[in-house]
Amino acid sequence: MTYQQLKEQETQYVMNTYGRFAIALDHGSGAQVWDVEGRRYIDLTSGIGVCSLGHGDEKLAEAIAAQARRLIHVSNLYTTAPMVQTAKTLCTQTGMSKVFFANSGAEANEGMIKLARKYSFDKYGEGRAEIVTLRNSFHGRTVTTLKATGQDKFHQYFFPFTEGFAYADANDIASVEAAVGAQTCAVMIELIQGEGGVLPLDADFVRQVQALCRKKDLLLLVDEVQTGVGRTGSLFCFQQYGIRPDVVSMAKGLGGGVPIGAVMAADTCDTVLGPGTHATTFGGTPLICAAANAVLSEVTRPEFLAAVTEKGAYLKEKILGFGSDKVKDVRGMGLMLGIVVDADARAALVQEIMDAGVLVLTAGANAIRLLPPLSISYEEMDEALAVMQRVFCK
Ligand SMILES: *Cc1c(COP(=O)(O)O)cnc(C)c1O
Repeated sequence: MTYQQLKEQETQYVMNTYGRFAIALDHGSGAQVWDVEGRRYIDLTSGIGVCSLGHGDEKLAEAIAAQARRLIHVSNLYTTAPMVQTAKTLCTQTGMSKVFFANSGAEANEGMIKLARKYSFDKYGEGRAEIVTLRNSFHGRTVTTLKATGQDKFHQYFFPFTEGFAYADANDIASVEAAVGAQTCAVMIELIQGEGGVLPLDADFVRQVQALCRKKDLLLLVDEVQTGVGRTGSLFCFQQYGIRPDVVSMAKGLGGGVPIGAVMAADTCDTVLGPGTHATTFGGTPLICAAANAVLSEVTRPEFLAAVTEKGAYLKEKILGFGSDKVKDVRGMGLMLGIVVDADARAALVQEIMDAGVLVLTAGANAIRLLPPLSISYEEMDEALAVMQRVFCK
């Protein structure tokens, strides 16, 4: 089917909740994808930071196929080896203590929020359930995680939202202190605000938040749904900030493309969620954990992580080196980068870059966001850079 034919049927049968680009993708290899009409693109999006090993990765495809033949799903009433393996790798690689498996980022954050509230309930009883989050954050699209998201535009239509969130300004410890009170049980942050514009938090601020949490017995919740699993050049971004979160959520890159989310707790709170307090039918299913294990066996290799850092630095240096006055800044860490442009010019730039054969994302009001596969090659980067240079330097 052509794009036009597919689009007509999509319009007829699929709810119109996404502003999609006008291409239909068919297959991929590495950091390249082909549309249904055979046109090739360099993919600097990897499905919004999901396809960490790129498209068509042999080991990942083989792990999924082999597990599918063996056992796809058994429910959480039984133990399976792939699930145990994923949890063990996550803990031994990070010093965290225990894992709960979910199916998406928002769901992982729901688990993290439930854990924080129960930690406080068990210790202090009712009335200490509020979570402080940061303005301009993004934590998901469920009714609760929308409210956790510190942006008014997400607090519309779906009333009543879950109560119990207060908002503070990023990189302003006085603002966090002001938002914390006797009713607070946790502070929840993204270390790099992703959807908000690829904005890394200051390391000093993050350490001050951690100190405040320790002093007041608040749990420090880190949403690594976008920054986790190698994206920033360490397995988790918190490892570069030198902090010890109580709970970390993850999702996007963990399954290499299949849906998975997880909540990882430190020994400060790893027994809070006991039998009957939290569950999901699909969580930790062997098929998906087999994929996560294939991803983790690549992404935990020190050379792989070092290469992510180097490739990110390479992209940043080359883009700044365009010398284009349309490029105001390049920010981010590892292969999570935001090219800052004029807000008014962004849509046209993204369209031109796509028309010239490179897929990119946006974030916040004025960033063009790059989340390429972590496995992208220098050849693929050079091809994408040449296209972007032509567009930016026109
Ligand atoms: C994408 C994202 C989410 C939501 O994840 P879903 O899988 O879409 O539910 C939550 N937090 C952050 C930081 C994200 O980037």
